[in-house]
Amino acid sequence: MNAKDIRKDFPILDQQVNGNDLIYFDTSATSQTPSPVIDAMTAYYEAYNSNVHRGVHTLGTKATDGYEQARMKVRSFINAKRFEEVVFTRGTTAAINLVARSFGDMVIEPGDEIVVTEMEHHANIVPWQELAKRTQAELKFIPMEADGTLTMENVEATIGEKTKIVAITHVSNVLGTINDIKAIAEVAHRNDAYIAVDGAQAVPHMSVDVQDLDVDFYAFSGHKMLGPTGIGVLYGRSELLDDMEPIEYGGDMIDFVDLRTSTWTDLPVKFEAGTPMIAEAIGLAAAIDYIEDIGPEAILEYEQELVNYALERMRSVEGIEIYGPESRAGLITFNLSDVHPHDLATALDSEGVAVRAGHHCAQPLMKWLGVSSTARASFYIYNTTEEIDSFIESLKRTKEFFS
Ligand code: PLP
Repeated sequence: MNAKDIRKDFPILDQQVNGNDLIYFDTSATSQTPSPVIDAMTAYYEAYNSNVHRGVHTLGTKATDGYEQARMKVRSFINAKRFEEVVFTRGTTAAINLVARSFGDMVIEPGDEIVVTEMEHHANIVPWQELAKRTQAELKFIPMEADGTLTMENVEATIGEKTKIVAITHVSNVLGTINDIKAIAEVAHRNDAYIAVDGAQAVPHMSVDVQDLDVDFYAFSGHKMLGPTGIGVLYGRSELLDDMEPIEYGGDMIDFVDLRTSTWTDLPVKFEAGTPMIAEAIGLAAAIDYIEDIGPEAILEYEQELVNYALERMRSVEGIEIYGPESRAGLITFNLSDVHPHDLATALDSEGVAVRAGHHCAQPLMKWLGVSSTARASFYIYNTTEEIDSFIESLKRTKEFFS
């Protein structure tokens, strides 16, 4: 893992912002895209742009091959048993909505419980709130410890015989908490419940094996893992996906259409109505190649070095409050006393440092933290300790300016 070499693959990083070298610390929102991913999508548009699953002509066949090979690549990347278990979606949000709408409406009955946590991104709360409303089910929350972690005692105490679905994030986009999904899945299944995991902040940064985790559904987004926007994945156990109804209807997903009735085609295309995200799937496959070339273990290890270094250095800044547990994924959410996070992010941007400010699509978690918003610095393979050093200097200057 040599971040300096890796950076050469990211043309966007080689620029100045407001007269300073860009320091991009907003990967948790969207990661940057390396040249091989851009090249794979350009090659598609320049050489074989065409619709999939329909044409018999050469370009159409090549596009279909590219799209379906991308699915195979995702299958092996997350170790799904079968390619039919990989549904391409617009992103994590669309994937979770598909599960809540289709699977949720199929299995939830009045009085059932849906278990989530207070650390969820809105994408993994609102679809379940709406499902609970539609079905008169109850939404329950696994309580968090003061540092933003879950204990297995609380997991055991919240998941019970009324629980039908446990919907939980693998990694918190605010706290960096890494949840023990395998252990939580075991509790869910022991209680005859299903588990759906929001993997948006996990898949880009660590090895994820859906069979080993023993999860029923797992969702993630391409744009957070070096891939393009507009594509994500829903992994689902084929026996569950088989029983589920599509939530979108139209071209490609049908088997037979009569004037008054229609039937659906096989998995996974049953859930992919209309022209899918072809260039994006091809780009996602190239992103997976890139991640696999480095190795998910090496990525995790490097990010741990970065985040531990950043934590230590940030603690030296007077008036800083850092949220989340000691052991965490590669992101740090914080506030600087007397400085509004938006002012802080604006001041940092004036020095070329891109951090996120706001509620991070986690308003219940902000409430739990007792703040309305925070700033967040998040790291990836292309970041360096030198960038962290510059960021610390910018933080100190900002603090001085506002005091
Ligand atoms: N879940 C988590 C934990 C996230 O961090 C995000 C994006 O920030 C999402 C879900 C939503 O992802 P997308 O906007 O790609 O659908």
